[in-house]
Amino acid sequence: MAEQPRLRLNDGNDFLQFGLGVWQVPNAEAAGVVTTAIEAGYRAIDTAAGYNNEEGVGAAIAAAAVPRRELTITTKLRNEDQGYDQTLRAFDASMKRLRLEQLDLYLIHWPLPQRGAYLDTWRAFIKLRDEGRIRSIGVSNFTPAHLTRLIEETGITPVVNQIELHPRFQQKKQRAFHASKGIATQCWSPLGQGTILTDPTIGELAKKYGKTPAQVIIRWHLDNGLIVIPKSVTPARIRENIAVFDFELAAEDIDGIDALDDASGRIGPDPDHFG
Ligand code: NAD
Repeated sequence: MAEQPRLRLNDGNDFLQFGLGVWQVPNAEAAGVVTTAIEAGYRAIDTAAGYNNEEGVGAAIAAAAVPRRELTITTKLRNEDQGYDQTLRAFDASMKRLRLEQLDLYLIHWPLPQRGAYLDTWRAFIKLRDEGRIRSIGVSNFTPAHLTRLIEETGITPVVNQIELHPRFQQKKQRAFHASKGIATQCWSPLGQGTILTDPTIGELAKKYGKTPAQVIIRWHLDNGLIVIPKSVTPARIRENIAVFDFELAAEDIDGIDALDDASGRIGPDPDHFG
């Protein structure tokens, strides 16, 4: 398999542009799914305390045939655990479930602006990073306003913001804001939870490249410099989704997918109101 692309984060660490998402994978199935993915060549896994499957993910990491240092593990702080002391405790609990000494990337899962705790939460993230317990710290579902406040109040810019992003909801303004701050954009629900796979434009491109719709969409993310974490529990699809490093989309085909953007294409919650 061709080498997987990496991005340089604003803290100097490199990060894999492709990984497996495990939202909605039951804990009892997570070890099997992650093991299948690692055997297929996946080296980055995206979980969260709120997915209730960190134990399963941890079991697969512990049993993996590849050394720990070759794997990039992301987890996220559960919304209920925001706040300085709560975050420190929740992080320890996640690490125990994952059976890890050091985490590669920790994210604040949602900003919960009404709660007003994300600054204190971020200060705990900074402490954990400074202690070497986490390599990189980032956020998820933060708007430019939340990011601006975080950066101005603490002086530390998140390395990534993980947001809903797929061909029907491309977040172009938010991506431009990230670029202006040196924040990498990580995309959740990159396949639109499966809903974009039947789009005719994507179907045409799949035929043209001799690839599947999922592979074309994942390639579009990679060719746009985005980090992409598609989810599947089906072994054949897990293998299909990683077979994307042997082709690139032509500029006019990237433009064709860019034109599918739809301001009302959001599937998940609006971060300003969620929680
Ligand atoms: P996704 O866009 O990755 O779609 C996954 C679904 O698409 C699968 O359940 C399956 O039905 C289908 N699928 C996958 N591969 C396929 C293939 N090759 N052929 C046909 N169908 C296929 O959706 P997602 O799980 O919502 O997002 C991916 C990851 O993003 C999650 O697992 C999670 O790690 C992360 N995420 C984060 C947040 C957040 O708030 N930070 C929110 C949602 C998801």
